[in-house]
Amino acid sequence: MISRERAQHMDGSDPLFAFRDRFIIGDPDVIYLDGNSLGRLPKATREWLSVALEHWGSRLVGGWHEWIELPERVGDALASAVLGAHPGEVIVSDSTTVNLYKLAGALLEGASAGAAIVTDRGNFPTDRYVLEGLARARGLELRLIDTDAIEGPRPEDMTRALAPGDVALVCLSHVAYRSGALADMETITRRSAAPVIWDLSHSAGVVPAELARRGVEVAVGCTYKYLNAGPGAPAFLYVRHDLQERLRTPIQGWFGQRDQFEMERPYDPEPGIRSFLAGTPPVLDLMAVRVGVELVAEAGIASLRKKAIALTELMVELHDEWLAPLGFELASPRDPARRGAHVALRHPEAWPITRALIERAKVIPDFRGPDSIRFGVPPLYTRVVDVWDALDRLRALVERGEHREVDAARTRVT
Ligand SMILES: *Cc1c(COP(=O)(O)O)cnc(C)c1O
Repeated sequence: MISRERAQHMDGSDPLFAFRDRFIIGDPDVIYLDGNSLGRLPKATREWLSVALEHWGSRLVGGWHEWIELPERVGDALASAVLGAHPGEVIVSDSTTVNLYKLAGALLEGASAGAAIVTDRGNFPTDRYVLEGLARARGLELRLIDTDAIEGPRPEDMTRALAPGDVALVCLSHVAYRSGALADMETITRRSAAPVIWDLSHSAGVVPAELARRGVEVAVGCTYKYLNAGPGAPAFLYVRHDLQERLRTPIQGWFGQRDQFEMERPYDPEPGIRSFLAGTPPVLDLMAVRVGVELVAEAGIASLRKKAIALTELMVELHDEWLAPLGFELASPRDPARRGAHVALRHPEAWPITRALIERAKVIPDFRGPDSIRFGVPPLYTRVVDVWDALDRLRALVERGEHREVDAARTRVT
């Protein structure tokens, strides 16, 4: 069993350790393990946002000469540093929900009536809702497949969904938001007869995506989790070059229009990825995405992945030693190669334990019903000793039965 001293020593030799200092850390005693819901605020974002505000104040509408290209410029940075895609294949705009609607709508153009849209029953709710709405509007079937709750969608369990037949579209998450299972994106994409949309929300910035190498055609994902771009920051949308000509967004907006300011013309979309823009992009938020992407680029995805594995491995090890005897169960894959950067633990009293952790132990995970607690370990700012301390506090709290003393009324955001 590793000691706290050993954990501190591991931090001492961590090449990414200094990145923690690039973020705002409020109360140093709080252990924040929910960066997979909302990443921390980078110090540089504060500075860049005040520069952006000044530009708004001084340049007014003239600022658009520079701002107008931000969705692609930030998209290009994301493509090369984070997604393993080519320039011109990624834009940053709208929310993940809206981007998913755009891509799914474009791919379903011409789908035969009664064809199926396939997703995993365990997929993130907004993804299921968007697909359900599209299925209803177009007379298609939404086919929810049951995959292993811990291991996520595996190609061998999806033979029928991937085979040629009546499937018009498949949509899956690269990393499952509950268990943290990492899907075999390459095998599923290559085997699927229908196009596959990947949602990278829980992997972008922490797990190599390698979209080009893996033959991925289209993808979406958000920037406020491991990319630390802040609450409500715009999402990204990726379309491989060879598909851009063929796919038409169902949201025809003026930002996707060729010669946007020739306003009398009928709709005639830009030829490239810009056609997937809809309305005016959120310029201030785009500045924050840029900073978030630059930080990840500087650290390097390979190093981030390596550290995230070390952190989740420690969490699993401490769980086995300290928590399993207290009634906890690992609800994430055991194999680190099959896991993203968070670990879920199950416990029958998961909800009051989560409340007690936050209120009494200053550890912030999140609760995912009915019985899971998720611990995210974003490697840019999470220390080995944070994982050690968090699980030590959790063990002590449950041993003392403190979770039975908290007011366990549900709050609106968990
Ligand atoms: C976080 C997350 C989203 C968020 O969608 P928004 O439109 O940004 O609210 C979507 N899909 C997955 C898989 C997520 O993890």
